[in-house]
Amino acid sequence: MTFVTHLECSATGDRFDADAVHNLSPTGKPLLVRYDLDRMKRELDRDALAQQPPGLWRYAEMLPVADPRHRVTLGEVETPLLPLHRTGARLKADRLWTKDEGRLPTGSFKARGMALAVSMAKRFGLTRLAIPTNGNAGAAMAAYGRAAGMEVYVFCPEETPDVNVREIALQGARVWRVNGQIDQCGAIVREGKERMGWFDVSTLKEPYRIEGKKTMGLELAEQLGWTLPDAILYPTGGGTGLIGMWKAFDELEALGWIGPKRPKMIAVQATGCAPIVRAFDEGVEHATRWENAATVASGIRVPQAVGDFLILRAVRNSGGFAIAVDDGAIMAAQADAARDDGVLLGPEGAATLAAWRVAVDDGRLDRRAHTILFNCGTPLKYPMPPVNRALKLDAIDWEDVESA
Ligand SMILES: *Cc1c(COP(=O)(O)O)cnc(C)c1O
Repeated sequence: MTFVTHLECSATGDRFDADAVHNLSPTGKPLLVRYDLDRMKRELDRDALAQQPPGLWRYAEMLPVADPRHRVTLGEVETPLLPLHRTGARLKADRLWTKDEGRLPTGSFKARGMALAVSMAKRFGLTRLAIPTNGNAGAAMAAYGRAAGMEVYVFCPEETPDVNVREIALQGARVWRVNGQIDQCGAIVREGKERMGWFDVSTLKEPYRIEGKKTMGLELAEQLGWTLPDAILYPTGGGTGLIGMWKAFDELEALGWIGPKRPKMIAVQATGCAPIVRAFDEGVEHATRWENAATVASGIRVPQAVGDFLILRAVRNSGGFAIAVDDGAIMAAQADAARDDGVLLGPEGAATLAAWRVAVDDGRLDRRAHTILFNCGTPLKYPMPPVNRALKLDAIDWEDVESA
């Protein structure tokens, strides 16, 4: 049983049958899952959740997978909220936290989206999935797809780090490097769809990854005792997580589980690829493609997002903003949080810390605000700064060790 009533075009509001397979709406926009929230409100009790095991399937009744046998799981955990005490104290802030999504299977929050997308693919009997990816989405789709016994095809931009491509291949997907950006890899999936019999699992091009990402918002609200923070900084590529959390908050309010208060939603990008920031600053509803995109934070190297208007709408309605930081600030923020608080952020997560610093400095954010930085993936898949110190076993220079 589910509470799903229909799918809705995010641009026109047109309704579509939730019992059929869909990609984008006929107008080329993302489809959103809609629920009978009145009935859900009567039948679900937030306190009963306490009986459920931790992880995203504890929210199964607020999700579209009706039959538990269709659930594909690799052991999704509840991701921890970690304090950044010393990092925050440098700017006299004492309520700065990170939600560490790097603890999820395959090391990123892409697992949330793929758990739902692949479960729904299983429910619809789909067996061949294809995706463009900067690494983490492909890794998660390979893992969940193979867990469900499906065939997985993955297309990565040429500059995708080796570790991602190898991880994807090792997890049983067919993977290619492509001499282009992620949107150009997406075009290959679109082109090959018919001939190859692929189901396109690109960001926001099927309705269910966003429902998986929605669980980030549900989980955060529950972790905070059914309250929300003052600000959320989100490393924004395709924006699924930001849109998904915003949807979660609306649904929770409709259930009466939280009040009307919303966090400022802050979309963080890199100065080398900031189409959403540019559109936000220009006050427009759609973003134009960012040419020559380049940043160390590959998870947010997305020149063009199909859900651009949904990201911008959530950011504006929340009273938030969009902000870009350069790679130097990203790497400095990563080093600071790791050294000062023992929290190793990925470059995307570090971008949110760098952005927070800028926004506190220029007064856009209150340093006393309860603030959550999203660390969306483990940094352990990225190259780290080199280390040159070495010892010779037969000639240890203790002065050198002491003064290190
Ligand atoms: C995919 C990804 C992002 C961006 O997520 P979207 O929801 O697509 O904006 C950020 N960080 C990491 C580590 C990612 O893998």
